Amino acid sequence: MSGMTNMGNSSMGNINMNNIDKDKRDTTAAKAVGKNGGAVRAVSLTSGGLDSLLATRIVMDLGIDVLALHCITPFFGTGPGLGFEEYSKDFKEKMVEMYGIRSEVIDVTSDFIKMVGNPAHGYGKNFNPCLDCKILLVSEAKKYIDKMTVEGGKKFIVTGEVLGQRPMSQRRDTMRIVERESKSDGVLLRPLSAKLLEPTVVEVEGYVDRDALLEFSGRTRKPQMALAESMGIEKYQTPAGGCCLTDPIISKRIKRLYEMKACPTTDDIYSVRVGRPFLLKSGGGGVILTIGRDEVENSVIEKMGNNGALFVKLVDLPGPLGLLRGDFGNDEISLAISILARYSKARNERKVRGAFGSTIDTFDGEMTVGKIMDNELEALRF
Ligand code: SF4
Repeated sequence: MSGMTNMGNSSMGNINMNNIDKDKRDTTAAKAVGKNGGAVRAVSLTSGGLDSLLATRIVMDLGIDVLALHCITPFFGTGPGLGFEEYSKDFKEKMVEMYGIRSEVIDVTSDFIKMVGNPAHGYGKNFNPCLDCKILLVSEAKKYIDKMTVEGGKKFIVTGEVLGQRPMSQRRDTMRIVERESKSDGVLLRPLSAKLLEPTVVEVEGYVDRDALLEFSGRTRKPQMALAESMGIEKYQTPAGGCCLTDPIISKRIKRLYEMKACPTTDDIYSVRVGRPFLLKSGGGGVILTIGRDEVENSVIEKMGNNGALFVKLVDLPGPLGLLRGDFGNDEISLAISILARYSKARNERKVRGAFGSTIDTFDGEMTVGKIMDNELEALRF
């Protein structure tokens, strides 16, 4: 399951609203009724990726009241410098505007950070604990439906999982583990592969028409893309595009962070997720310098200053912006300025002047430092 990174700037562009049957996009009323009477409601775990969007829309098209639940953590969902309120508002608006889907955003950072350090089912190819991640997210959805009231009806969970698509978490056996460990036995519907799986309670009891569900399997994306086209969904995020735990480079940095700290903070995670990170001191929880590789990253770093971090830049010279985080002193500030100089036009200068300050508008300290040697720089890379 991928997260949706900074939906405000995401690659999911326009949906052709003309292709959407607006009656079916009525997201306010539960219309489906089961054989035994009673309405039905669903919560759909939605990353913003194609599979979860399709699964949500399939169930909505059956006339069922679906709320898309979007979970965020520092590893996927939101991004550095984006406040929860800002991200959440933007996500919810775009989900309605682009896909006709009503959504809610929840922050599961605290439990997720703990889980990543010690997942019961281990990691995938990188530092991605996909099976435990699924269990955690489905458990969140389960808590959500447990709180919903549906008079005399049924509630269930929807995910965009496809049998055989992902080696760790989307196998028949691991899908069962997710159901069992999230206590969602019988109430977890995977519309894209439902016909290949055991029927859920809502199918057996006639709330959801099993014939309207699909039998996608394997790694091919073609059926999903064809279905998206038929639903008028023209733009969506690439699979796993939003989860940095599957990124070979960033996941190695995050693994190293967890080796240094059993429970890193969101700030720590962003320090190694963005730009070029360096470890300037390993003791005492470490001192990490993050520097931007371009203007875009510099502007992201500008928004990351808080909780005792220090901005560093060169004086009278264009160059990257740096952010120091941790228990730093003058030695680390000096080192940070030398590293910034290495990525500027002053790279061959013997001396360079840098400035530092606790906010992006107050560079109230200055220091002149010497050049850093290549081998010294290499040894500091995070
Ligand atoms: S850990 Fe795995 S399942 Fe969870 S968001 Fe990342 S890629 Fe998806």
